[in-house]
Amino acid sequence: MPAATAESASPIYPTYNRAPLSFDKGEGVWLTGSDGKRYLDCAGGVAVNSLGHAHPHLVEALKAQAEKLWHVSNLFEIPGQKRLAARLCEASFADRVFFTNSGAEALECAIKSARRYHYANGAPERIDILTFEGAFHGRTLGTIAAGGQAKYMEGFGPKAPGFVQLPFGDHDALREAAGGPTVAAILIEPVQGEGGVRPVPLPCLTGLRELCDELGILLIYDEVQTGIGRTGRFFAHQNAGGAEPDILASAKGIGGGFPLGACLATEAVASAMVAGTHGSTYGGNPLAMAVGNAVLDVVLEEDFLVAVRDKAILFKQALESVKDRFPDVIADIRGSGLLIGLKAVGANTELVAALREHGLLSVPAGDNVVRLLPPLTITAEEIREAVQRLEAGAATLSRQDRNA
Ligand SMILES: *Cc1c(COP(=O)(O)O)cnc(C)c1O
Repeated sequence: MPAATAESASPIYPTYNRAPLSFDKGEGVWLTGSDGKRYLDCAGGVAVNSLGHAHPHLVEALKAQAEKLWHVSNLFEIPGQKRLAARLCEASFADRVFFTNSGAEALECAIKSARRYHYANGAPERIDILTFEGAFHGRTLGTIAAGGQAKYMEGFGPKAPGFVQLPFGDHDALREAAGGPTVAAILIEPVQGEGGVRPVPLPCLTGLRELCDELGILLIYDEVQTGIGRTGRFFAHQNAGGAEPDILASAKGIGGGFPLGACLATEAVASAMVAGTHGSTYGGNPLAMAVGNAVLDVVLEEDFLVAVRDKAILFKQALESVKDRFPDVIADIRGSGLLIGLKAVGANTELVAALREHGLLSVPAGDNVVRLLPPLTITAEEIREAVQRLEAGAATLSRQDRNA
């Protein structure tokens, strides 16, 4: 028997390397730790707390619904689903929506919908989903195969077939693979989140749309991390004008902290998903719908997204100046809107820990990046406070003699 460690004594699966910190309370961008310290939260529950903590409108919506009705199942009509779906369609390319409880489930629905579309259109051999190196699509058996990262598949049996991974940004490899007779769809994050905040150039999304049209295959966007205003547009691909998908997976920010995901699709795709082909016991329950509709009340308000774009510019400019002052700590600033990546010079986990010491919470990502995912409601003053804390944290890692 190995010696007992703190983790092996825990009744929780040891799947996470957790920071030694818990919280008692949240308000807006602020969290109060059980250590009594106040933390400026740019981790945002990994891009989930789109409107910060305890947003009054969300609290009110959840409380009011909790007193009326929690759950009835999808055996019955759920008016909140029709309302939220209609609003999502109105704000996007989509005609129909399937509600889930998480991002991975939204992706599973997207993948099933793509295959089923071809099946219904007389091409059942079209099952392959093309994905890209560095992608992250979730932790189910299907979505780890889609993400293609060996470290997430090791020890979990055979990789689910029907996923083909391509290098990031290799147009020739893509064109060749996409022309294959068994291809169903291309699946891509407009900005890779977990992969290290790597934006796909906007003209490439337009190119993907054209390629899919030419070949009769479907385009699926994974906007689980980039959607619902995170990049300053309702969905990130809307930065690229006409590059609309056939299917889109949303989650994280859509529930503002309540577990909620959605698969959006065109009528042509959704009509293949006839009664009995898919389901979810909890998906779209009245509690989730009340909160999802309340999130949209705020995000779809006139000028809300304009303000997000303005704040993103302010944040980016301030971060560039921190990078210029500490080039031995921060190598690069990247991202889109309030999905911000700082490429670290030393280990990204060391930078995350140094920032935490200075009361700023952030999230590590691939490619040695530290993510800042503040609530979309962060104020200019709070951005300045975040940057000051970042500077203080960076200074502790810098080896420069600042007095020289
Ligand atoms: C977080 C994430 C997922 C998985 O979402 P879960 O809710 O954890 O299942 C899928 N795709 C992307 C891009 C994500 O960021």
